[in-house]
Amino acid sequence: MSSNDPTPFGTPFSERHIGSDAAAQAKMLAEIGYSSLDDLMAAAVPAGIVSPEPLRLPPAASEAEALAELAALAGRNDVGVAMIGCGYHPTITPPVIRRNLLEAPAWYTAYTPYQPEISQGRLEALLNFQTVVGDLTGLPTANASLLDEATAVVEAILLMRRASRSKSPRVLVDADTLPQTLAVIGTRAEAVGLEVELVDLDGPLPEGDFFGLLASYPGCSGEVRDLRPLADDAHGRGAAVAVTCDPLALTLLTPPGEIGADIAVGSTQRLGVPMFYGGPHAAFIAVREGLERHLPGRLVGVSIDASGQPAYRLALQTREQHIRRDKATSNICTAQVLLAITAGMYAVYHGPDGLRRIAGQVHARTAEIASELEVRGVRRVNRHFFDTVVVEVADAVAVVARARAAGILLRPVDATHVGITCSEITTAEHVATVVDAVEPRTDGGVMVQVGTGIPAALRRTSAFLEHPVFHRHRSETAMLRYLRALSDKDYALDRGMIPLGSCTMKLNATAEMEPISWPGFADMHPLAPLEDVAGYRVLVEQLEEWLAEITGYAAVSIQPNAGSQGELAGLLAIRAYHHDRGEARRDVCLIPSSAHGTNAASAVLAGFRVVVVASREDGTVDLDDLAAKCAEHTDRLAAVMVTYPSTHGVYETGITDLCDLVHRHGGQVYVDGANLNALVGIARPGTFGGDVSHLNLHKTFAIPHGGGGPGVGPVAVAAHLAPYLPSHPLHPVPEQRVGIGPISAAPYGSAGVLPIAWAYVRMMGADGLRRATQTAVLGANYLAHRLAPHFPLLYTAENGLVAHECIVDLRPLTAETGVSVDDVAKRLIDHGFHAPTMSFPVPGTLMIEPTESEDLAELDRFVAAMVAIRGEIDAVAAGRWSAEDSPLRHAPHTAACLVEEWTAPYTREEAVFPSGTPAGKYWPPVRRIEQAYGDRNLVCSCPPISDFEN
Ligand SMILES: *Cc1c(COP(=O)(O)O)cnc(C)c1O
Repeated sequence: MSSNDPTPFGTPFSERHIGSDAAAQAKMLAEIGYSSLDDLMAAAVPAGIVSPEPLRLPPAASEAEALAELAALAGRNDVGVAMIGCGYHPTITPPVIRRNLLEAPAWYTAYTPYQPEISQGRLEALLNFQTVVGDLTGLPTANASLLDEATAVVEAILLMRRASRSKSPRVLVDADTLPQTLAVIGTRAEAVGLEVELVDLDGPLPEGDFFGLLASYPGCSGEVRDLRPLADDAHGRGAAVAVTCDPLALTLLTPPGEIGADIAVGSTQRLGVPMFYGGPHAAFIAVREGLERHLPGRLVGVSIDASGQPAYRLALQTREQHIRRDKATSNICTAQVLLAITAGMYAVYHGPDGLRRIAGQVHARTAEIASELEVRGVRRVNRHFFDTVVVEVADAVAVVARARAAGILLRPVDATHVGITCSEITTAEHVATVVDAVEPRTDGGVMVQVGTGIPAALRRTSAFLEHPVFHRHRSETAMLRYLRALSDKDYALDRGMIPLGSCTMKLNATAEMEPISWPGFADMHPLAPLEDVAGYRVLVEQLEEWLAEITGYAAVSIQPNAGSQGELAGLLAIRAYHHDRGEARRDVCLIPSSAHGTNAASAVLAGFRVVVVASREDGTVDLDDLAAKCAEHTDRLAAVMVTYPSTHGVYETGITDLCDLVHRHGGQVYVDGANLNALVGIARPGTFGGDVSHLNLHKTFAIPHGGGGPGVGPVAVAAHLAPYLPSHPLHPVPEQRVGIGPISAAPYGSAGVLPIAWAYVRMMGADGLRRATQTAVLGANYLAHRLAPHFPLLYTAENGLVAHECIVDLRPLTAETGVSVDDVAKRLIDHGFHAPTMSFPVPGTLMIEPTESEDLAELDRFVAAMVAIRGEIDAVAAGRWSAEDSPLRHAPHTAACLVEEWTAPYTREEAVFPSGTPAGKYWPPVRRIEQAYGDRNLVCSCPPISDFEN
């Protein structure tokens, strides 16, 4: 513990966050031959990049102090009754779901379900989500979530372009679309050469070719239009049709799939997910038959396991097929799994009747407002409506102010129009208050009763959510047990280590998590006026400032809501910079062959041409090839994207030369910051040569992975790129409204989870953060050292050290014995571990990242499991078993398999207790899952219950 520790009472948080104490660290250091953490780092990190100065951050706060500060900030956010609409609605998260899902570590500390055998619970929950989306939209195949509604619309537009017969670059976009969606379309379309034309859907479609039509249903004005004639016209002219829609409205409205939509997108926020000041929320995308193989994002499907039982897994995309490097169609990696599951469970708990009742009540309140205002002679702009009316007033500012004084937030559309949107929480008193705020004069009008705002031709007649899962969990007891039963099937950080290289699965501390569901953070509408969000503004400003200090950059924007979006924002900044300097010709982006798939995908979506740079035998970027490519493209060089430390987990010594070289050719250096856990407090990308980086707060800064999202991917830039950070037309701070445009739907992206990263930095302090980095590097080197006698290590730097992760190479053993990297990964499940990252960045290898949060006992348990597995591989080599009939190939083993006829050439004990009989044995619920079967027989919504009967 450092001498200047500021918390005299209790244990400093950093000692809770870092898994090993001084004695354990001394043991690990002795094992690898170093006398101190500082010695180790001096040997591991190239001297030229080390920052001599400690980070200038506030002294570490204790958990109690940080929580008190956050409570004060939450208190400065004024929670009004938001009737702003615009894609964000107050909703009631059922407490049983809030506490046992959203706030439950078994759910939020899980990883993306790439290892389906240990992810059956969340895969089933995601299949529920897909079924909800598919049923409500009337389209057969939905994915497992996208990042937000605006970016989902962009994905839909790009999908229409791929799928439509028309070769035109023109897309028609409903002028009555949410303003933030229009703005994000604007940012994204220009980069990839799309021509966007806004159209008034009350008239006919314009002449000329177009590849797609995007319509809003209902529109931003609240209007509900019958889209059938327009869809027919568009189809007749060879174009595709996408509809952005509201899932709650679709319980009452004819679904998009029945009125001609090929694609439906939208947000499931109002299905029980707090507004979170803009995010995180799960967006959705659903497509008609024939388009399923074009879907971006992840898709859950049904397959069978080795014993023939149905089982869930990610379909069609074991390796994220849409992120196909330079042929990429989407860069989405981390999505919004935790929020998708929350929305899915809201539908499970309420069932179709409950959802229809909630929607009916929302609609009835809206009709009351419409009637009352008609009585008072106020003109309504939209004829039809579900939950929103826009009315004409003499002075919109005065009306909004009157409502706000009474605690209600309305939407000022322009000087003479106000938007009013009802939600699940709207009461009769709210209706009365709003009506009085709009038009206090009550006399004189004729009694009008607006019965319904939904046109007769668009009343929903088709059933939805008929599957038993949406009918069986109506009591709280049943719901509680369903959530428990699902999470019991899964392996998350609450059970043991998840040593996934590149993913940094560290502690998500309870003190960091608690504040996010406080009303002062959770219940804020992203378009609330500036005066109401003082707490959030301080939180965001401080976090951006701390992240700038940690990375050595001049400015940071937390708007991007995943790493992939941070990449895109950073590349768009580079693009705008070159354009402003009259160098628009610079369009080549150099990317090493070992890069993460999102890098190339983001480059394509930013309008760049990808040129691949070779990696050397030792995993480092081939600087000779880089020099050759720089020379070849010198006039057109826009940027290089490198990950540091490299995706191979080593601190490359050539990084400063690389930066110099690219700068000499007029290019910008993008440093992918996903591996920042090896740098924080040690070296700063903005100081050692980077112009721009994205960070992954869901990796380095303690935001939980949520089973595949939420994430936050801030973009950090040097001063010359600061003018090109994301802006937002609806930003609460006027100066941030104009600029390059938004990359996310909400001005502050996934604002609701920022208190987690804020608390992490606040409680660790500069010293704690540096020690976390050092301990992460120590842990990786300790594992590398202990595993090296048993498995060949792929890469180390010159001194034999790795950074914060290490790669073991199974290819020689596979060649010799037939035991594959898959077999090792699945056998680790029998030992009670989540597999390391498989076959990235090198096929046939495992990349192991222990993080600073794991203690020595857990590291040793992992080593013992790997050594035991090596023993089994040797037994295959020695002919004791064939690879096909080994415990490796048959892994994982379930409890059920023990009571079946036993024919394996090893014992039941060897099968399920390969490392003794631990008290907390994790039992996988299924045997190894067949991928190919599920892809041949694609089922992506809840399968009929009969599939599960023997
Ligand atoms: C995780 C990761 C990304 C992408 O981040 P997402 O939040 O999943 O979009 C990009 N690059 C690297 C090296 C990563 O590890």
